[in-house]
Amino acid sequence: MFDVKKVRADFPILERKIGDANLVYLDSAATSQKPRQVLEAINDFYTKHNANIHRGVHTLSAEATGMVDEVREKVAKFINARNEEVIFVRNATEGLNLVAYSWGRANIKKGDAVVVSLLEHHSNLVPWQAICEEVGACLRVIEIDEEGRLILSEKGTTELSGGKQIVTTGGLADLLDDRVKLVAVTAVSNVLGTITPVVSIKNLVSGKAPAAKLLIDGAQLVPHMKTDVAKMGADFVVFSGHKMLGPTGSGVLWGKREVLSEMKPFLYGGDMIGEVRLTGTTFADLPNRFEAGTPDIAGIIGLGAAVDYLSNLGMENIREHEKELIAHGLSQMEKLEKQGLVTIYGPRDAEERGGVLTFNVVGVHAHDAAQVLDKYGIAVRSGQHCGAPIVERFKEMAMARASFYVYTTKEEIDFLIEKIKEVPRVFKI
Ligand code: PMP
Repeated sequence: MFDVKKVRADFPILERKIGDANLVYLDSAATSQKPRQVLEAINDFYTKHNANIHRGVHTLSAEATGMVDEVREKVAKFINARNEEVIFVRNATEGLNLVAYSWGRANIKKGDAVVVSLLEHHSNLVPWQAICEEVGACLRVIEIDEEGRLILSEKGTTELSGGKQIVTTGGLADLLDDRVKLVAVTAVSNVLGTITPVVSIKNLVSGKAPAAKLLIDGAQLVPHMKTDVAKMGADFVVFSGHKMLGPTGSGVLWGKREVLSEMKPFLYGGDMIGEVRLTGTTFADLPNRFEAGTPDIAGIIGLGAAVDYLSNLGMENIREHEKELIAHGLSQMEKLEKQGLVTIYGPRDAEERGGVLTFNVVGVHAHDAAQVLDKYGIAVRSGQHCGAPIVERFKEMAMARASFYVYTTKEEIDFLIEKIKEVPRVFKI
């Protein structure tokens, strides 16, 4: 049984007041709060074990190295991967750029194509846009329906021009052929909460573009749902530690061993080398080849504590909890929609949606609505959520987003709904 009260007791920040109001933190899709166990793990490392890794034979260095190795094993087990396939990076963005520079620049050539979706966070769009522009490849974009779900079937293509490159949009089935070298899609949208059908995507790609690699942006997946990279059939999965109860500065790129082994390093320097001579250098095996320089050691150790915390709660239980929250949030928000007070964006079925509730108060800019809610201690994100094309697709300038996690309660969602009703009154609408 998922005991949200017990969970909340582990998060010291939830005691905070915003002015006189209790903090109602509904911005976990941007970053999650951290439990005591994670804070203590970081503190323990700096207090008792701090040293650089892989650099010394002394006790502290050996301890720190062992601690990082142990987290790698934990993360590998958490996503059902091999240890050497887990590359520590600083966030999902760095993982995506690593793939773009190292794999992308070696494998995407003039005349090739990269497929992304309209649901992508800028960090899984802009690196591919940049490569396509650089080498003369074509960017293709999977369209979404009115509820923000990916269109997988054929629907006909459209060419967009007027910018730096011509982009083709359509259903995934329209966009796949043997020119496609990479399909890079998110598993869960940070803007609309849409859960994308990764297995169906994989099957379509295998049928129509069998040589293409599949990259999954797991930034909003891994923190919230059980992730099994072996079953997923992807070649790369990226995620950020800070969205899964871990500290900022920790993130993971998972890649299939066969694919990573063929890739050149991304960053060059210490710790990633085999032998260095003035006349040439060889590089280390996986995973060190992709981990140049001193990593965020304390961040990795905090991530390990976060993985323990999530594993103890059980990822299936977390998904059930969030599914209940989003179903409740949608049903409450739909009552306001019927009164003409709000517009809701994204899938209406909780089965197809993560714990992300995106809305606008009719006639009020999302920043203004968020500012009113902040007066009541409610933290929601407003703006374009690093997904400008999605917001534009719904003909909006901005959206407000309430996002949930392990510590979120139905009462908090009810409080949000109650205070949304105040927003039009403030602006005398
Ligand atoms: N992808 C998705 C779906 C995200 O939600 C985010 C963060 N909002 C990112 C990528 C980038 O994560 P980070 O800023 O931690 O690199």
